[in-house]
Amino acid sequence: MEKRKLGSTDLSVSLLGLGGFHLVELPEREALRIINLYLDQGGNYLETAESYGSGNSEEKIGKVAKVRRNDFVLATKSTQRSKEGITKALEGSLRRLHTSEVDIFFVHGLNRFEELDAIASPQGALEGVEKAKKEGKIRFVAFSNHVTPDVALNALSLYPFDLLMVPLNYFDRFNFPGWEEEVLPRAREKRMGVLAMKVLADGFLWESERKAIRYTLSLGVDSLVMGANTEEYLNRDIEAVENFVPFTPEEIEKLWEEAPELGNYVCRQCDKCLPCPLGIDIPRIFLLEGQYDRQMQDGIIRDPAQYALRERLRFWLGNQDYARKAYQELNPKASVCNECGECEPRCPYKIPIIYKLNLAHEKLADARSSD
Ligand code: SF4
Ligand code: SF4
Repeated sequence: MEKRKLGSTDLSVSLLGLGGFHLVELPEREALRIINLYLDQGGNYLETAESYGSGNSEEKIGKVAKVRRNDFVLATKSTQRSKEGITKALEGSLRRLHTSEVDIFFVHGLNRFEELDAIASPQGALEGVEKAKKEGKIRFVAFSNHVTPDVALNALSLYPFDLLMVPLNYFDRFNFPGWEEEVLPRAREKRMGVLAMKVLADGFLWESERKAIRYTLSLGVDSLVMGANTEEYLNRDIEAVENFVPFTPEEIEKLWEEAPELGNYVCRQCDKCLPCPLGIDIPRIFLLEGQYDRQMQDGIIRDPAQYALRERLRFWLGNQDYARKAYQELNPKASVCNECGECEPRCPYKIPIIYKLNLAHEKLADARSSD
């Protein structure tokens, strides 16, 4: 499997990394078999977190590390924000992973500005990380962000992180465009390693797996971190990365136009519907709807499996408060639309803008608000 150098570190990782979240769903023997199959096929990036199954994922990876630690780059994560908390968490991780050092340690889920303040404050997590580095317990420092590209951008200037991991896929790029348009280029300027998570949008793109893998790799990331809880999924992912050919810009446009998951509901943020005579910022409202529930609830009745998948994933990123607060500050709101209809014919994706504005307002308006 092709390997890429992670930014300015001396680590080279395979295009497909194995994420440890799904290992908690497997009996131990099967988890170990999947990890070994991945390593045997040239994969060399294993990533886990203390929070995955309260250490269960780390314990499973630790069993493999006992036998073949030198065969892979090992990463783990902690959501602790204090020096004491992160130091303790790392000790636990090292014990479960049967190693004296992890290659990469993530400040995990750095999603809010308050958390940036907390980790950078005296006795904050960054002091703990620095100390652990000096003691030879971690080699490189990373962070992950799941929902707030603006927080990720600030994290980039807060501390000299070696790499980052953010969601990058052709669905959420319309809900959180900042990852692709701002965070990724800035990280590249800083010569940081970039790992992509949520390549299949938490499974939402499962029917378009090859395209999803091809899309995210075409962004020029170093590795895709994907979970695989069956041999079949693992082999499919390996096959897709091994046969990777980048999309051309025209092919990407076509994908955005035709992807069934985007359909005629997800706003592509092209701004062509503007201006609205009442000054409604249509794309911004749909962006906030995306940050609220990923534009997954479109009011269309589907079969039970599709319905259940959307219901399961729409709040997966847990960003509702953030989106609602931003909507509260937005004026005018969607509710002032007088249905003049000027915008709809301008939308190249045939989005029923009036209907969608109505739905977006229902989702985003605080029940206590008068709008
Ligand atoms: S239909 Fe509503 S959103 Fe569209 S242009 Fe008219 S007032 Fe603006
Ligand atoms: S024209 Fe359609 S896709 Fe483009 S910003 Fe407006 S609603 Fe979104």
